[in-house]
Amino acid sequence: MIVIKRKFKQNYKTGFPILLKEAILGKVPTTEGDIVQLVDDADNYLCTAYVGYQNKGLGWVLTYDSEEKINYTFFYKAFQRSIELRQKFYNSTKTNAFRIFNGEGDGIGGLTIDYFDGYYMFNWYNKGIYQFKDKIMDAFMNVTSFKGIYEKRRFEEGDKALQGDAYVCGEEAPTPLVIMENGNYYALDFNDGGMVGLFLDQRDVRNCIQKKYASGKSVLNMFSYTGGFSIAAAVGGANRTVSVDVAKRSLEWTQENLYLNDLSLMSNEIIITDVFDYFDAAYKADARFDLIVLDPPSHSKTKKKIFSVEKDYVELINKSVRLLNKEGVIVASTNHSGLSREKFMQQIEEGFKAEKASYKVLEEFRLPEDFRVNKKFEGSNYLKVIFVQKG
Ligand code: SAH
Repeated sequence: MIVIKRKFKQNYKTGFPILLKEAILGKVPTTEGDIVQLVDDADNYLCTAYVGYQNKGLGWVLTYDSEEKINYTFFYKAFQRSIELRQKFYNSTKTNAFRIFNGEGDGIGGLTIDYFDGYYMFNWYNKGIYQFKDKIMDAFMNVTSFKGIYEKRRFEEGDKALQGDAYVCGEEAPTPLVIMENGNYYALDFNDGGMVGLFLDQRDVRNCIQKKYASGKSVLNMFSYTGGFSIAAAVGGANRTVSVDVAKRSLEWTQENLYLNDLSLMSNEIIITDVFDYFDAAYKADARFDLIVLDPPSHSKTKKKIFSVEKDYVELINKSVRLLNKEGVIVASTNHSGLSREKFMQQIEEGFKAEKASYKVLEEFRLPEDFRVNKKFEGSNYLKVIFVQKG
């Protein structure tokens, strides 16, 4: 039993999902995978949580019903419900890659599950939830059929960081596994460290660029990874795309995605370099673009620069504004949960101000429907994408 401090009691009563260290009166739990009841200082039951250390806290709340057991049936019901809620996605003839379980948004923090054309990828974010793997897999396999199951363990084991990928059961996925999103094809690889080749949470943004912003335009895609935004823009009729990423693997992978969608390598350029070097080269060449996508990682370190979204987004905007055509648009995106939408907007404003340019916000995106968020925990709604037009 864990006693919760008086000032946190109301939070846990009304659905706050994280077991916070600072909310605990007395000793903190240390055995990951333990199920603990949270009570107030008068011994009244508040909720039941599991212990699992993550950057966000010491564990996640699983139920507010003191009678409910955390067993096979609990997991079975959770998956039944989460899959039921994604029927629209399963029935789609144009998209076969989406999230079917989104951690605390679906009632179990620390676990997400993505669907890729019949294969499922489990992401385990702490050691605690991983202790329930057998029960969770058992329940999952009785809720739905599948071709194959894979997992990524995203927590420290011993002193080794992320252990990477593992095949769990069923058929092995081909490499690459080609999936479809809004009618476009993307090559995936389940063995690319923490990533698979496509960030599903940007699906609606890619689609918006393709349908509303690309036709006849020149597009610069910074931090392009496998070229997802470039593919969408090119299919949408962009007359030129330039994808810039520092990682060598981006070249072949983006080429493969272009090839899969019958797009030309001539009008869709891929440049392997640091984005900050690219800016310099682009100024020298007097390059201009109608649309610039900025979707960096929260932190990165290259030979040229240590980059962090909190510190350097202003510079990214400001450098991009100089490359924009009249009435050009910047798609400013961040998945950094520690940066609020307001702070992010301030950075965008500063970036435009530094160039003495005026701007207007055209539209905004947060997480798509399959990435269900927990309304009691703002940090779970991490994605912020703002379309801003110069002038
Ligand atoms: N926008 C991408 C996802 C970006 S993932 C998409 O929609 O798919 C982050 C990418 O940024 C990685 O591919 C990494 O290689 C690249 N990256 C990190 N720092 C960089 C830098 N300074 N210059 C260029 N690319 C960088």
